[in-house]
Amino acid sequence: MAELIDGKAIAAGIRADVATAVAAFTAQTGYVPTLATVLVGDDAGSAYYVRAKHRACKSAGMKSVGHELSAETTQAELESLLKTLNDDDSIDGILVQLPLPKHIDEQRIIDLVAIEKDVDGFNVQNIGALAMRGREPRFSPATPLGIMRLLSEIGVDLNGKNVAMIGRSNLVGTPTTLLLANANATVTLCHSRTRNLAEHTRLADIVISAVGRPNLITGEMLKEGCIVIDVAINEVADETAKRGYRLVGDVAFESAEKVAAHITPVPGGVGPMTIAMLLVNTLKAAQLRRATT
Ligand code: NAP
Repeated sequence: MAELIDGKAIAAGIRADVATAVAAFTAQTGYVPTLATVLVGDDAGSAYYVRAKHRACKSAGMKSVGHELSAETTQAELESLLKTLNDDDSIDGILVQLPLPKHIDEQRIIDLVAIEKDVDGFNVQNIGALAMRGREPRFSPATPLGIMRLLSEIGVDLNGKNVAMIGRSNLVGTPTTLLLANANATVTLCHSRTRNLAEHTRLADIVISAVGRPNLITGEMLKEGCIVIDVAINEVADETAKRGYRLVGDVAFESAEKVAAHITPVPGGVGPMTIAMLLVNTLKAAQLRRATT
């Protein structure tokens, strides 16, 4: 039976370490690391995530400033806000909650975030540096960093390991692939056009799934003793649950835990790591901007 990878506990440890480092930073510099968030529109899920990020900042001793804009906000208005935040010396990190409304050119907005404040790591300069050998991105995206941290916490040496990364989004799959390759893993990047997914997952020492499809990965698709990281968050109807649904990942947990050596639960696996790594990036932004590292 697989051992659970307790993302919640690991994330709590990281958040406690960040809080200690923030206190030391503030004592040394007189500055409080500050995150600005930008939320456009009234998507309940996005608003929930932004609130969670503000709470996390507060509990780490950081400041956070929220900008909530209506769904009708124009490209020019959003660009103008970003320029203001870029120029505002009191702001260390800028987080634009995605997705943005359809009429907004999302990539243009992401690329407008000043590289030294790009704590989400989605600016093309940061991703470009991650993709090039010998270059160091200033920031890498939080969820991929969280996945890497989970693997290191369970003591995995990635050198030469076969990894099946399922999903190739800019948010998760592609940057995780780059981080894994930089750590000398051999990565197979699977996606919706992959012909026989099980052929790839069965060869993998580590299977990471970021698709958004319940039961995509079952135990019989896994190699005995592998590690399974389930990034996805799917709502499935459940009459016995208070809200009428429960959260599951891409992995059929019951069959997978019989085959894997380590597995993340959903919820409580990758999710808590994302916020923890955002705090790590925001502290890093403040330290680099105030030149204390
Ligand atoms: P996304 O942008 O929708 O990307 C999904 C990826 O899955 C795409 O690359 C797609 O392939 C691939 N895919 C679709 N069907 C497939 C199939 N049958 N077999 C193999 N690959 C398939 O999603 P995302 O933003 O990366 O998010 C993925 C999941 O992770 C979602 O459930 C999301 O809620 C969750 N998530 C969790 C966290 C966290 O903190 N835990 C953070 C971010 C996202 P194509 O490229 O060919 O279309």
